[in-house]
Amino acid sequence: MRRIAVIFLVAVFVPSLVLGFLALRTAGEQRVILERQAAELYQKDADQLAAQLAEAVLGRQREFADRVRVLLSNLKPFRLAGDFGNALGPHEPGTAFVVGPDGAVVAAQMRTREDARFLRENEAFLSNRASAEFFPTQQNTLNYLSNTAPLANATQNALQGISPRRVQPQKNVDISNGQDAQVSRVASLTSRFQTATSGASDGVLARFSQNELVLILWTRPPEADGYVFGLALPTRTVRAFVRKAFSAIDPKLRNACIAVLDENALPVATSELGFQGDWKHPFVASEIGETLPHWETVVYLLHPDQLVRSARLVALTLILLIALALAAILAGGSFVALDARRQLLLAQQKTDFVSNVSHELKTPLTSIRMFAELLEDDRVPDPAKRARYLRIIALESERLTRLINNVLDFARSGKKHKIYRKTVVDLRPVIERAWEAQSVHLRDAGFACEWIADDPPYPAHADADAIGQVLVNLLSNAEKYAGDQKEITLHARRAGAEIFVEVLDRGIGVPKGDENRIFEAFHRSNDSLASNVQGTGLGLTLARRIAEDHGGSLEYRSREGGGSVFTLRLPLAEHTENQS
Ligand code: ADP
Repeated sequence: MRRIAVIFLVAVFVPSLVLGFLALRTAGEQRVILERQAAELYQKDADQLAAQLAEAVLGRQREFADRVRVLLSNLKPFRLAGDFGNALGPHEPGTAFVVGPDGAVVAAQMRTREDARFLRENEAFLSNRASAEFFPTQQNTLNYLSNTAPLANATQNALQGISPRRVQPQKNVDISNGQDAQVSRVASLTSRFQTATSGASDGVLARFSQNELVLILWTRPPEADGYVFGLALPTRTVRAFVRKAFSAIDPKLRNACIAVLDENALPVATSELGFQGDWKHPFVASEIGETLPHWETVVYLLHPDQLVRSARLVALTLILLIALALAAILAGGSFVALDARRQLLLAQQKTDFVSNVSHELKTPLTSIRMFAELLEDDRVPDPAKRARYLRIIALESERLTRLINNVLDFARSGKKHKIYRKTVVDLRPVIERAWEAQSVHLRDAGFACEWIADDPPYPAHADADAIGQVLVNLLSNAEKYAGDQKEITLHARRAGAEIFVEVLDRGIGVPKGDENRIFEAFHRSNDSLASNVQGTGLGLTLARRIAEDHGGSLEYRSREGGGSVFTLRLPLAEHTENQS
């Protein structure tokens, strides 16, 4: 039994618990999982937009470089340098400037206050007199300009240096820890203009001047004889340009708003008009890079609650499924374990039964043989002794017959083969005969026997032999389990439409909890096993079956003052006539 419990525990219960625990944990993580999936999805959109905007800025630079090359095809470099602002035309937004081969600013446009301000703040830097902090993006457009490579390749080359960098959405950054440094990964340089533009023919320099972003587009084609032609775009122009590029791309997301944030985390362009998010706390963010330093493309969820709700729904469904699966596993496991336990018990009982039957057969046979041998050789001259020996032989044969009858009857009735020869008989003499046959022997064994019976007749529709067998079984049990109190009473009476036969003893009684089980086949209560009384565990099974086959019952109850009472109840004949 313990083995089954251990197997059940190891093979079913513990794995179920572990599985249940793991599954529940997964259910609990649904929100994180869903959030992560959504983040992955939206991150791609943010990355893509960031790359497209960076490319748009570089495209703007290439456009400017093309323009300069066209102008240079008509004008000598130094001539163009002298009148660069006008040559570009009045509609070019931004401040045009030229740096000569010697590093000094040759000419600069001075049309607006913005031009003046730009020059004031950058002249020293452009003329190589002072270093400044800037964010460089260089692209070598020589290939592009010589038209040896297709345009797509040039775009690819340009993009290689500006793959978007995912940045942590600011909501996850703990600024108090000084971790805000991780928010941006754009790298600035501090040097003079000549150093900044060396080693390439084209580029963009982004600068923050008085906290305002300025983009400096510059180009130095080989035919320019060392002149650097530049165009500085002030914040206003950069913003307008980004807005235009954004609407040209026209990014749209389902259930989310994608936007471009400037260095102050304020929106420059958004996909959802009128969306008012918590700008500083996007769902995902991607940094555009050095072309637009500290600018980000960001995504906000339009319905953040929806994510929580779907996570809750998924978790709930999962928990329900897990509970159902666990219940099924545990129920199935318990069922199998219980069945195995029952089978084991039955196997054990059957083994006991075989050894008990062999023993019970052997004991009477041994004494029959012994006394028969004594009588055969005429070695017992005393007639009283001979008579006693003969009675013992008769009694032991009876015991054998009873035993064999029980076993055979059980086997037959188990297959529903027990055939009764029922007639209407008076049961009173049947009861009396059984009592007398047993009581002689019981008195010999020192039992106090008491017989109380109502007057006859007890008419019943019954098989007299079968009823006799019930009584013999009950009386022999009363003898077997008598213990030290050798006292047996048989009480037969009629009450209403029924006959009651009670067999009472003062014996060891049936332990609590076993009252019904003693009627199960092969079941023998532990007390009787311990007191070493021989038996098969079949007597009561058969007796009850016979009683029930006669429309009656056989019940046990403990007797007041100790001992057992077995009550056989049978219907009187008038009430059974219609039944069989
Ligand atoms: P057996 O006596 O061969 O074991 P039974 O079916 O007649 O089988 O009885 C089943 C069990 O019921 C017995 O093993 C015993 O434990 C218990 N029992 C039966 N009759 C009595 C009794 N009169 N007093 C105490 N226990 C009894």
